[in-house]
Amino acid sequence: MNTQDYINLEEQYGAHNYKPLDVVLSKGKGVWVEDVEGKRYLDCLSAYSALNQGHCHPKIVQAMTEQLQNLSLTSRAFRNDKLGIFYKKLSDMTGYEMSLPMNSGAEAVETAIKVARKWGYAVKGIPKYEAEIIVAAGNFHGRTVTIISFSTEPLYKEAFGPFTPGFKVIPFGDLEALKAAIGPNTAAVMLEPIQGENGVIIPPEGYLRGAADLCKQNNVLFIADEIQTGLGRTGKLFASEYEGVRPDITIIGKALSGGLYPVSAVLADKPVLGLIVPSEHGSTFGGSPLAAVVGTAALEVIEEEKLPERSFKLGKYFMDHLSEINSPHIKEIRGKGLLIGVELKPEAGGARRFCESLQDEGILAKETHTHVIRFAPPLIIDQETLDWALPKIAGVLRQA
Ligand SMILES: *Cc1c(COP(=O)(O)O)cnc(C)c1O
Repeated sequence: MNTQDYINLEEQYGAHNYKPLDVVLSKGKGVWVEDVEGKRYLDCLSAYSALNQGHCHPKIVQAMTEQLQNLSLTSRAFRNDKLGIFYKKLSDMTGYEMSLPMNSGAEAVETAIKVARKWGYAVKGIPKYEAEIIVAAGNFHGRTVTIISFSTEPLYKEAFGPFTPGFKVIPFGDLEALKAAIGPNTAAVMLEPIQGENGVIIPPEGYLRGAADLCKQNNVLFIADEIQTGLGRTGKLFASEYEGVRPDITIIGKALSGGLYPVSAVLADKPVLGLIVPSEHGSTFGGSPLAAVVGTAALEVIEEEKLPERSFKLGKYFMDHLSEINSPHIKEIRGKGLLIGVELKPEAGGARRFCESLQDEGILAKETHTHVIRFAPPLIIDQETLDWALPKIAGVLRQA
């Protein structure tokens, strides 16, 4: 079978809920992937930041393979000998007292919403079923019906109502709007520190700090969705750290498994997460021994290989050199660590064709929101590889 045969198979038998680049990958190692024709590419998407540790990291692969010889799944009906170790690693690394493990990011967001609502009723005393959660326009928190209920992207939402009530949407980056939106029934404010899916949108400096302060003053929980920005991606363990913010709830996923298996978690302290009692919430696969060893190994790699520091340093290097590219198409380059967006002018005709040219040059990146190319390579990348990629990126961005 060649590339076109694989594409035809997918197109014929699979739902068309993605429009992937026409590259069919069959191998991945570190920052490199290889397609079925044997062509090698630098991965500059990292599966939307699930691959911060790189493809098939040997340490995580070994942990997973060993665990597969012993025990994969117990369900939470029984205890297992790996989950407690994973919990403790999460606490030691993040400073939160507790965590609740799930699988996908969307499930962890749903979990955080449930926890915040319960806190709203049990602790804050909001009248039953009146709890409100404030979110920002342009958000991306996942794909479930509840989550799309507060999306502002018509494509994510329009066809799928009726929607879940209890959410208020305010403009991202506007503290006055947030202040005005908080009321007696507000249980939580949930934000992405940087809106990755919305085109790597960075709020004004002081916004997260201000939002967290407003939450504190009004007895409202501050929830950070760090599924994409967390675990080193932006040059700190969590992007919230840039403003000295410690959210009441932090949601992580994606790189929590280094891309080997879906692992997500909600992090909080006992007064919040301790409110959940048996049978109120659960997941068959969440917290399995397999997920626990994969998660623990993925966290160890982040620590041992100093991925946040690497991302900080190399992200700055990458951004500085991208900024030197003299292209009539570039409107703005922005980012933190190795989460970088290159926004093109509308006249450039969309980012897609640039991503296709990058593919020809051996670099895989994906457009986000029509006019933005996101560059988010695995955090294990080195300067030499960036030096290899930069002239190619420059060439593509300069093309007519
Ligand atoms: C990817 C992502 C999610 C959803 O994660 P899934 O694992 O795809 O469900 C939620 N929030 C943010 C910020 C994300 O980037």
